[in-house]
Amino acid sequence: MAKNTNNRIPVKWIRDKAKAAYEKQDYCYVCNGVVDLELHHLHSITILLNRWASHKNYDISTDSGILAVRDEFIAEHQTELYELVYTLCNKHHVTLHGVFGKAPALGSEARQKSWIEKQKAKAEGKSPIVDSLSLFGNFL
Ligand SMILES: [Zn+2]
Ligand SMILES: [Zn+2]
Repeated sequence: MAKNTNNRIPVKWIRDKAKAAYEKQDYCYVCNGVVDLELHHLHSITILLNRWASHKNYDISTDSGILAVRDEFIAEHQTELYELVYTLCNKHHVTLHGVFGKAPALGSEARQKSWIEKQKAKAEGKSPIVDSLSLFGNFL
């Protein structure tokens, strides 16, 4: 069975390796929720990886192919992988991808950002309980 030796989609190898260095926050950026937290990249790593590999003429269609260039990809995409990211709860993460698609188009980063800020403002207006609690804390 010398078919495709690729057991996993290439971007999974990137995520595995990069995950160790992710600095996920302890709460959702939008609603301050603390459960089911996930990391959202403004730049779709799948799209970045495929574009990068084809530009460099790298074959990432096999496990060994992606593993050979994984570190190089990560080194060249520090900003996209580690800085232009948001910690979101699953609910807000799913909602965002519902609006922008499973792999948001490159170039939509600014629109994603303003969408996130808008949801944050909305969430803050709707949950004054959190604010009064922390205010209350100051009087203790
Ligand atoms: Zn949230
Ligand atoms: Zn995401």
